[in-house]
Amino acid sequence: MQWEIVLALGIAIPIILIPVAFVLYLTIFGLHANTKEARERRAAARRLVREAMQIIRNKQAVDRSILEAIEAAEEGQAVSREAESEAALPTWVTPMPVPAAEKAELVIVGGSAAGIQAAITAKRLNNNVGKITVIRKESKVLVPCGIPYIFGTLGSAEKNLIPDGAIGDAELVIDEVTSIDRESQRVTTAGGRNIGYDKLILATGSLPAVPPIPGRELDNVYTVKKDVEYLQALDKALAKAKDVVVIGGGFIGVEFADELRKRGLNVTIVELLPHCLSLNCDEPFCIRVEEELAKANIKVLCGNGVNQILGNGKVSHVELSSGEQLKADLVMMAIGSAPNTRLAQEAGLEIGATKGIKVDQYMRTSDPNIFAIGDCAEKYSFFTAKPVPLRLASIATNEARIATSNLFRPCVENKGVIGVFSTRVGDVAVGTAGLTEKAAREAGFDVLIGKASAPDKHPGSMPGAQPMQVNLISDRSSGRILGGEAYGGVSVGELTNALAVLVANKATAEDIRFSQIGTHPALTGSPIVYHIVNAAEQAMVAYHESVAKERVADKTLV
Ligand SMILES: Cc1cc2nc3c(=O)[nH]c(=O)nc-3n(C[C@H](O)[C@H](O)[C@H](O)COP(=O)(O)OP(=O)(O)OC[C@H]3O[C@@H](n4cnc5c(N)ncnc54)[C@H](O)[C@@H]3O)c2cc1C
Repeated sequence: MQWEIVLALGIAIPIILIPVAFVLYLTIFGLHANTKEARERRAAARRLVREAMQIIRNKQAVDRSILEAIEAAEEGQAVSREAESEAALPTWVTPMPVPAAEKAELVIVGGSAAGIQAAITAKRLNNNVGKITVIRKESKVLVPCGIPYIFGTLGSAEKNLIPDGAIGDAELVIDEVTSIDRESQRVTTAGGRNIGYDKLILATGSLPAVPPIPGRELDNVYTVKKDVEYLQALDKALAKAKDVVVIGGGFIGVEFADELRKRGLNVTIVELLPHCLSLNCDEPFCIRVEEELAKANIKVLCGNGVNQILGNGKVSHVELSSGEQLKADLVMMAIGSAPNTRLAQEAGLEIGATKGIKVDQYMRTSDPNIFAIGDCAEKYSFFTAKPVPLRLASIATNEARIATSNLFRPCVENKGVIGVFSTRVGDVAVGTAGLTEKAAREAGFDVLIGKASAPDKHPGSMPGAQPMQVNLISDRSSGRILGGEAYGGVSVGELTNALAVLVANKATAEDIRFSQIGTHPALTGSPIVYHIVNAAEQAMVAYHESVAKERVADKTLV
């Protein structure tokens, strides 16, 4: 509107002033004179007015075209600036640049597991979603779970990339979002772009947690960054190293240790808790993994903290809380991760108890037009509804599916995280779905355990057959399965996923006991000893035994 007022005045003032000046001129310089000189002066004055009127008409044409261009830009039309203004303006006018409005119905910040899944499912679930823009900081995005395998099995970071085509026909912008203006619903990037949104999904992930251990700033101390160039530098440093200390015996630390020993390095894991994988498995399973690590010549020092990292510019030793010093050319810190919430915090979004972006059951943040998914979002336990610091790719993709179902209408609820994890050390695999026995007891459940072990192929003499054990953790009062753990060969990965479906659907030991399962000699255990079914039956037996014991105890009391 301000433009229009200025232009209107620019047109009106010359139109009024020029004829007035002409009349004054004639009045003063001989309106009534009829001499030759007077007639020539009047003709000259008329020429001047005609030229002035032509200038005014040209100016009006220019003003109209500028106004039209501004209106078009304001209406958000995709205006090819040069083409439009050059066509409308006379050649002697330099075209004014009109800022083009960038806008997408859905903007996703982050292009890893959560962001990619959100782009795919948003299109799949909402045909009319319109334009989707994914903004991702890094030019190449890694398969995060594949990072440890870069250093052994895969051999290079280039072999562990997610292709950009994974996001389908969504627009990919390689840039860093630096701020969110919630009022105008726009994000600004470090590269100077300003993109409007109807709905915004934050999938900004997590960053490695770095504890304040003295000496962490020394050369050759690395964390697990999801960054191609950083990991390439780590690879080069490993090529010159001999002794490596991995701080943290969780599944990422264990996977790194196993891969590094494959390239002939002397590897030691230092873990504060009593066992490696203590947060993921019950003790007997942890011990089996530690046995495998020992077989692979990986030294495991559990129940040990790190006092400091020593070295002169570059790491040379790691000092433990026991005072022992370990020789180290390189240190890998695999302590865990922290949600990356800076952007959300600066935009005034609420943060939860475990430092993730607070979300409701529809994955909406405290701003209903902004969703948060994946490692950056707060998680709630499926079992207790309490906040839990669980960050997994399986959770990230699940949350992406939930959020995109709820973009324009809340309809799918997140029932909370179960926690499904599996890993492999040497030739053995271990997996957990839901609560371990320890976690179930800590959460206040009265648990019954059903156990089954048998070869994972049948007969057990089949080539490649490995012993497999499955434990089912059930709630005594309802019979509901709270969790399952498996140990064995590679089939443990998919078996753990089957357990996850049973847990999420609140199957009872009774349901599982009477399930029909498929078996094949080369692929599964025998139908007679099938692990999950047998473990459920054992849980039922344990239940009946405990009821019988109670009855006996009651009679004793009577
Ligand atoms: C070594 C390792 C092994 C793992 N193994 C497993 C496994 O076996 N199974 C499993 O389930 N989970 C595993 N995980 C966990 C899993 O990788 C994460 O849960 C998963 O990556 C989370 O995905 P995300 O998209 O939420 O976040 P991230 O993968 O952290 O991605 C965040 C994205 O956001 C981008 N971003 C951040 N801020 C901005 C910004 N301001 N502007 C633009 N872009 C931005 C980043 O560049 C990145 O693309 C592993 C993790 C690691 C580190």
